[in-house]
Formats: sequence, C-alpha cells, structure tokens
Amino acid sequence: MKTDLLPTGSTIGILGGGQLGRMLSVAASRLGFKAHIFESGSNPPAADVAHALTTAPYDDHAALTAFAKSCDIVTFEFENIPTAALDVIEAHATIRPGREALRISQDRLTEKMFLQDLGLMVAPFADVPDAAAMDAALLSIGTPSILKTRRLGYDGKGQVRLRSTDDAAPALAQMNGAPAILEGFVDFTHEVSVIAARSSTGDVACFDPGENVHRDGILHSTTVPARLSAVQRTDAVLMAAKVLNALDYVGVLGVEIFVTRKELIVNEIAPRVHNSGHWTQNGCTVDQFEQHIRAITGWPLGDGTRFADVVMENLIGDDMDRVPALARESDTAVHLYGKSETKPGRKMGHVNRITR
Ligand code: AMP
Repeated sequence: MKTDLLPTGSTIGILGGGQLGRMLSVAASRLGFKAHIFESGSNPPAADVAHALTTAPYDDHAALTAFAKSCDIVTFEFENIPTAALDVIEAHATIRPGREALRISQDRLTEKMFLQDLGLMVAPFADVPDAAAMDAALLSIGTPSILKTRRLGYDGKGQVRLRSTDDAAPALAQMNGAPAILEGFVDFTHEVSVIAARSSTGDVACFDPGENVHRDGILHSTTVPARLSAVQRTDAVLMAAKVLNALDYVGVLGVEIFVTRKELIVNEIAPRVHNSGHWTQNGCTVDQFEQHIRAITGWPLGDGTRFADVVMENLIGDDMDRVPALARESDTAVHLYGKSETKPGRKMGHVNRITR
C-alpha cells in the first residue's frame, strides 16, 4: 500500500473524546495536525486540547457527514462504533485503521475465530447465541469458565464467572438475552500486552511487552519490562505482528495475552491505542499516541525502543486525592484527563514512575 504523507495542518478526525482521544489529539498537534473530535457525550476530556468538537449522537447522519467532510483522515479511540455511522463517514473520508479490524474486535466470537485461524492460542470457547445453547457449551467447556457478551464488553463489564454448573442460570440471566460466548478459565501466572504499530507502507514496530495487573476488572498497573523469557518476549511480539499483517492494519493495536506455565494465550485485541501502552509516554522517544498518528498520516514509525523501566499506575476514582503527594514524587510523571466529575471506577489519570 502506498500513502502520501498527510501535509502539516491537515485535520485528523477522532471518534470518541475520552482520555485516549485527548492524548491522540496532543500527539497530533505536536506533529502539526489539527484534531477534530466527534463525541456523543457532553464535556469530553479531548475537547480541551482539540481544534474542533462535534457533539452529536452516532445516529445523526448529517453531523457525521459534516464531520467526515471536515477531516482528511478519520480514526477512533474505541471499537464499538455503530456500523451505520462508519458507513456514513467512509463515504467522505478514509478510516484508519480499516473496517476489518473493527468488525473482528466488535464481536468476541469473530475475534476468537480470527485469532485461532491465524494459528494463535486462545482460551477454549463455545458460542452461546441463546439460553438453549448453554447446556452444550457447558458440556464442551466445563467450569470454571466465564460467560461473556459477544458485543459491547469492556473493563470486565458484560462477563460473569461460573464456578460450577449451578452458576449457569444466574449468569445467563445477567446476559439479558444478549448473544454470548462461554470461555474456559485460563489458569495464567500473569497477563501481558503488546502494543504494536503498522505503517501505511507495511512496516511494523512493537513496544516492549508490559505486564498488566487488573483490579475489579479494570487495569491497575502496567510494568515494563514484563516477566517474560527472551523467547516468550519474541513470541509475544511476533503474535502481534501476525495480527497486524493479517488485517493489513494501519495504526496502533493492543494485544492482551495470558501467560501460563506452558504457553502464551491471546485474550483479546484492541484496534486502538491502549491503556496498557501509556507507559510509552515516559519510556520511549515516540509514544503509542504519536506512533498511531504517524501511522495513519503516512509518516514513518518511531522504532519503539524503550529507554527506561516504567511502572504505569492508573488513577481511578478517589485516587485523585493522591495527586498532590504524587506530584512531589521524583521520577514520576502525572497525566490527568481533566474530567470534571470523579466517580468510582472512572479512569481520571495515570502516573508513570521511572524505576530504572
Ligand atoms: P476481558 O474483558 O476479556 O479483557 O477480561 C478482563 C479480565 O478478566 C482479563 O484481563 C482477565 O484478568 C480476566 N479474564 C478474562 N477472560 C479470562 C479467562 N478466560 N480466564 C481467566 N481470566 C480471564
């Protein structure tokens, strides 16, 4: 694929105005681009740092059309964008990464089959399109297992653990009739992720894998380097590259991986910049946000080399009370998202601590 470099001053449309859109906007502006945010909610964090903001629901086709016409390229900070909205945008602007990555990552079943077809290990899974399919799924997957909605799940939402078959009925009730998959419980020792980028000319650059700790289904911290052998590290990076190439992907993508005693199992892919890549802001010359902007605008990629050991910690809800103390810590960079309201479970910012 050949792409001309998008000229300075071009406008990058970003679907979603959360913290990822905010940090993408900053990176875009640093490279001389303008960011135009499309967001359905009010007071999006990205609006503070972007050139333009459209506030409209995703079914407002007139607003989507005007937005798309004002942009030279369109990208996104979340994967659950309605297909009809993408169709409207695509009539007027190129979307990067492309639709295929979105189609696959929007549906856990499609995603699992895609990864399996690539020869990557995934947790055992069974389709549970409705309640009637649960018995057969339990027979093949057993317990412990996790019932996950096929669509619209994130940060541990839309999933229920089954310790025994007795948990099946209440778990199904929580799905509210939504199609789901039953996933075998992976007895992992730890979780890692690879943040990887592919340019418009097909070059691939991966950041060093980070080790992730979740609390209550939400990412708590990412530590680099991750506990991986040299072979595991190479394998993890190659897995990410395989996904990027298979999708003819342009942009940054996150691959979440379970590390077991025997193997690396892909949990899911996120076709966007990723919370577990925030450490790159203070550990690499070109961070994941700039890397994404470089990729989608036809720039060459940064090489992704890590020059420091970093621990990224998310600031969630009342963690904001710790900011004055964190600001006094040495070797610590505080990144806040400017959210007006603090709520339990809400990501308010993060800190990157340089540990070496
Ligand atoms: P997900 O929304 O699929 O990323 O899941 C959120 C978190 O739940 C993961 O990061 C894991 O900590 C845990 N989890 C998800 N799927 C499994 C699984 N099959 N086995 C064990 N833990 C899981």
